[in-house]
Amino acid sequence: MADQPLFERVALIGIGLIGSSLARVLKRDGLAGRIAIADASAEARAAAVRLGLGDSVTQSVAEAVTGADLVMVCTPMGAFAAVGEAMAPALARGAIVSDVGSVKQAAIRDLGPSIPEGVHFVPGHPIAGTEHSGPEAGFAELFQGRWCVLTPPAGTDRRAVEKMIALWSAAGSMTEEMDANHHDQVLAITSHLPHLIAFTIVGTATDLESHLQQEVIKFSASGFRDFTRIAASDPVMWRDIFLNNREALLESCARLSEDLAQLQRAIRWGEGDKIENLIRRTREIRRKLIDAKQA
Ligand code: NAP
Repeated sequence: MADQPLFERVALIGIGLIGSSLARVLKRDGLAGRIAIADASAEARAAAVRLGLGDSVTQSVAEAVTGADLVMVCTPMGAFAAVGEAMAPALARGAIVSDVGSVKQAAIRDLGPSIPEGVHFVPGHPIAGTEHSGPEAGFAELFQGRWCVLTPPAGTDRRAVEKMIALWSAAGSMTEEMDANHHDQVLAITSHLPHLIAFTIVGTATDLESHLQQEVIKFSASGFRDFTRIAASDPVMWRDIFLNNREALLESCARLSEDLAQLQRAIRWGEGDKIENLIRRTREIRRKLIDAKQA
């Protein structure tokens, strides 16, 4: 527990999985003097009150950000522009605005124009999550041992960046600063493409004849089961991620199609050594991931 809270008043806009996990961290570690919550969903607001996630809960973004020295935007990315417009007139000079959106160039595009002079904008992305949504799904340990990428635009006040590093460190995360464009390319490969593949595979199985479908569920081996977990992710969030990281994701898809064609060819022509070499390489990646404690 900190002697002095890191922030006097934190406004959490969107109290779903990520917003509510942050609220739990702020409460656990005494990092905020007050927590003000705004959410568009009456159900989420009621849950936030029931779970005691903040000191005030409202539908009004402007009301929540009034007097806040940190505003964290934790809504789906499709709402960022509207949230930016709603909060702009109420932002206090010297406040920090940050977010947790999964695509950083789009976050800067949609929130950036609403940040007034004298307010510091430090976009961020915790590389942590589950397939569950909503305030009930959050937990304080979500960010423990995970990376959080910060993409402050050039010239951002260093003290504001350091405060965000302090917040994410308290949440148990390692932080790294990166250019927003680079972040989006990396995440297209490590997160967005795997989700796209999972949605596609599970969708293909769903399209099979109904009797076969039942067998897919019944004999679901670990491979398919693992895909269904990822494919159970929130439709609105993933629609927004795909549409907002279009170029990088389409480039990753093109690369995947080429590699897939090569593997198909190896299978067709019985080139066992090529198949084996590929799997040896991918196995090595898994080993490295375990060594880096990111498995
Ligand atoms: P979530 O559980 O679906 O919660 C989002 C909440 O924001 C919902 O209660 C939603 O209400 C509310 N909301 C929507 N529009 C709003 C608006 N204009 N003003 C105020 N509240 C609004 O979402 P999440 O999984 O926490 O994801 C939030 C953000 O974190 C996304 O931008 C996502 O890209 C990012 N992120 C997610 C993960 C993950 O694994 N989930 C990981 C890293 C980053 P309604 O239900 O009524 O829309």
